Amino acid sequence: MITITGATGQLGNSVINFLIQKGVSSSEITALARSVEKAEPLKAKGVNIKTGNYDDLASLVEAFKGTDKLLLISGNEMEKREQQHINVVNAAKEAGVKHIFYTSLQRKTDSADSPIGFVLSAHLNTEKIIQESGMSYTILRNNLYMDMLPWVLGQNVVEAGIFYPAKDGEVAYTMRDDMAEAAANVMMSDGHEGKEYNISNGHSLSFGEVAQHLSAVTGKEVKYISPDVAVYKDTLMNAGMPEVAVDMLAGFAMGASAGELVAGDTDLPGLLGREPVNYKTFLDAIYTQK
Ligand code: NAP
Repeated sequence: MITITGATGQLGNSVINFLIQKGVSSSEITALARSVEKAEPLKAKGVNIKTGNYDDLASLVEAFKGTDKLLLISGNEMEKREQQHINVVNAAKEAGVKHIFYTSLQRKTDSADSPIGFVLSAHLNTEKIIQESGMSYTILRNNLYMDMLPWVLGQNVVEAGIFYPAKDGEVAYTMRDDMAEAAANVMMSDGHEGKEYNISNGHSLSFGEVAQHLSAVTGKEVKYISPDVAVYKDTLMNAGMPEVAVDMLAGFAMGASAGELVAGDTDLPGLLGREPVNYKTFLDAIYTQK
């Protein structure tokens, strides 16, 4: 049995779709969901549903019984997720899970003090407890979702230009679905015990390059301005964006400018058996229709 946490979310749902598409019987897949209602579409595909919450150890132990392979998809409740991940790992051990897979974060520096420490810290600690858990493990270090790039660029990017304090920094943005397919491939094949993979595009993208590409495909001059971080934050706050979102956008910009989010040695093409979707394909599909 393969159990997927975060199954009602975008990445987990996509992993399940790839597993089924690639030949795993839906009856061999269990989705952990905290909302029975949100799990209905998965149930309709024949996937087993177990209710459980990362905050509730007993519910996790019960849900993981009979699981050989468990994919822990990192949680999205930033304040609580480190303890939630500890609960998942402890429950997996108690339930007799043989192999745990974890979606972590790709980075250049293994330090909670780096500019991306605000998200990296929980991943570093989760990786450590998984490595010391005694279970077989595989760590999938995902770079940033390319799917979120339009949010970073802002609504009227073609008219207004790019206003983002990343300087010349680069990010190896990668489609969520490519990450999901790689996770499915890893769980369906042998030889991944103790492995730590970088899951990203091979090309690291600067915002200057995004501006150049958008200019070329739209025929309008799209400028890239990298403001001071404080100016950027004030501008977004004054426009009414919640502080938590502003901090996240600014934090990743600082991570990019420090070189924390570049591709490095990526394992993704090898795990997919093809090149991942590149930024031109992604941007053209969105911005050339306008
Ligand atoms: P998502 O759509 O927000 O899905 C998160 C999933 O986690 C949902 O299924 C959610 O359940 C579940 N979850 C959250 N708290 C839980 C809890 N206490 N107990 C049980 N389940 C819980 O996120 P995604 O796009 O699939 O991404 C997966 C993860 O990647 C995120 O959670 C986050 O850690 C990380 N992330 C990465 C990037 C990146 O650029 N690499 C960007 C954003 C997030 P519900 O459906 O019930 O809410």
